[in-house]
Amino acid sequence: MSEDAATSSPVSDSPAPDSPLRAEAALAGIEQRLAEVAGALGRLDDGTYGRCDACGAPIGEPLLALAPLARRCERCEKR
Ligand SMILES: [Zn+2]
Repeated sequence: MSEDAATSSPVSDSPAPDSPLRAEAALAGIEQRLAEVAGALGRLDDGTYGRCDACGAPIGEPLLALAPLARRCERCEKR
């Protein structure tokens, strides 16, 4: 039996020329965004989506259209 290494691991991809720190920062941003989306989906699920986190008032469609992930109404956001 031959132990020919038929490894098909294409791990020869070199990292982007950009500094890894930049990629990390970008990733962190994406992760934060994902968490926000997950939170919005969760609120959509339990029916609290579109309500202000601070005062419980409806955030309002104009603001939600602009910022679907908004968690506070315009009034509270400006405080
Ligand atoms: Zn509010």
